[in-house]
Amino acid sequence: MQYNVIVIGSGPGGYVAAIRSAQLGFKTAIIEKYPTLGGTCLNVGCIPSKALLDSSEHFHNATHTFEEHGIDITDPKVNMPQMISRKAGVVKANVDGIAFLMKKNKIDVLQGVGSFVDKNTIKITASDGKETSITGDKIIIATGSKPTPLPFAPFDKKRIISSTEALEIKEVPKSMIIVGGGVIGMELGSVYARIGTKVSVVEFMDSLIPTMDGTMGKELLKSTKKLGMDFYLGHKVTSVVNTGDEVVLKAEPKNGGEAIELKGDYCLVSVGRRPFTEGLGLDKVGIELDRGKIVVDDHLKTKADNIYAIGDVVRGAMLAHKAEEEGVMVAEQIAGQKPHINYLLIPGVVYTWPEVASVGYTEEQLKADGKAYKVGSFPYKALGRARASMDMDGLVKILADKSTDEILGVHIIGARAADMIAAGVVAMEFRAAAEDVARMSHAHPTYMEAVKEACLAATANRPIHL
Ligand code: FAD
Ligand code: NAD
Repeated sequence: MQYNVIVIGSGPGGYVAAIRSAQLGFKTAIIEKYPTLGGTCLNVGCIPSKALLDSSEHFHNATHTFEEHGIDITDPKVNMPQMISRKAGVVKANVDGIAFLMKKNKIDVLQGVGSFVDKNTIKITASDGKETSITGDKIIIATGSKPTPLPFAPFDKKRIISSTEALEIKEVPKSMIIVGGGVIGMELGSVYARIGTKVSVVEFMDSLIPTMDGTMGKELLKSTKKLGMDFYLGHKVTSVVNTGDEVVLKAEPKNGGEAIELKGDYCLVSVGRRPFTEGLGLDKVGIELDRGKIVVDDHLKTKADNIYAIGDVVRGAMLAHKAEEEGVMVAEQIAGQKPHINYLLIPGVVYTWPEVASVGYTEEQLKADGKAYKVGSFPYKALGRARASMDMDGLVKILADKSTDEILGVHIIGARAADMIAAGVVAMEFRAAAEDVARMSHAHPTYMEAVKEACLAATANRPIHL
């Protein structure tokens, strides 16, 4: 078969690239090695983790906030097989949805491992070993990423596990050790802490979610401590051993001090993900890697001029919406258009409760760049909306240019931050000043009023409700 565009990998990068290519009139094929479409995000990432985050949050509320709301229920219990089965149903509905979209857009779906024969020919090896070949004018690599193991403690998938196994545990573990207080560690740590697991997080850096604005990590630490989670920040893990009945972790404070030993039913290792290119045969087409990532230019083109790469397998944040934007960008370039991605304005969200959401520069980045800036903050506890819903943890922090007042960063920790951050993206995309947002009417009572108030604080240090 001869195609205009062949996409390898069906995650959010790949399937969006395929849909946009088909919309632009290209005859398109997508190759996926697994039986279901949607990649990491839909099968073992964004969607199943959010399903469990929501279920566990309902349980947490039933056991912690319902009584105060005046709702009496007796002795709620976690039915873990049902929680996991609902999650599987959510995943199925989503991956079936992608299969429907492929059909609707007349995209050929080919199951098997795709590998380069030459720069226009891809061999597809099905799970029964059967091989077929197809050719394409343009190829888009969207093969994503895999969890990174600790070098001295590979995943055994029984007690030393990655996020993939952590989404499939069929009982409530008594205890779980988490290595890495980043996004996965804090999201899945919250899930298990809420349903009664004793969760201990060991993080190498001195703060949680260390790549985000420092205030976010500090506030998240305070909030998640309330779930009973224990934290060992600034600790270097020295060994993790599955002893059969449990897992034993040893770590030492990186700046000196007494070593610790933790025991748990599971050790979830969430120290980042690494790009996945195994079996692609990149050497046959002269494509280069830099620390495992496919090297691309500003237009996401590899060293081979008809081959592009997008998503987790290339530089930049490993986020589904970043991969999607890149999928659209490449398809539109192939069609001769001139699309553009503003990488500074790709938002980052951590779906804990309170949620954390950020866009633009962090305060640490502005300091390092020597940029003159001003800060405006507003706490959730001063919001009527937050009092009404009992979601008073959190704050909005606005960073603005000291002389022009242009918003340089929006950082929110609090209820519904994940949805609110879109307003920050819009404001920054249109290069709004803090005063522009401060003078816009925000509905009352909403959490978004905290954004308006933080902008008032940033622009003229005159919040109304503080
Ligand atoms: P992937 O989604 O990894 O898809 C790559 C696909 O390529 C896979 O299906 C793979 O099987 C296939 N493939 C690989 N090699 C071949 C080959 N040779 N032939 C055929 N097929 C191949 N991001 C967010 O933005 N929001 C979230 O809430 C979020 N939550 C997450 C939670 C967890 C637990 C995890 C692990 C990740 C989460 N992410 C989240 C990250 C997100 O899943 C990734 O950034 C996103 O999936 C990357 O998309 P991609 O298309 O680049 O690759
Ligand atoms: P991460 O980069 O978010 O966090 C890894 C953490 O582990 C960091 O805090 C790091 O300092 C720490 N760490 C690294 N090595 C360590 C060691 N040896 N000992 C102790 N701590 C160590 O990575 P992740 O949480 O594994 O997530 C992987 C990717 O998946 C991320 O890039 C993230 O963007 C994506 N993801 C996104 C979402 C979301 O958007 N909500 C959710 C889950 C995953």
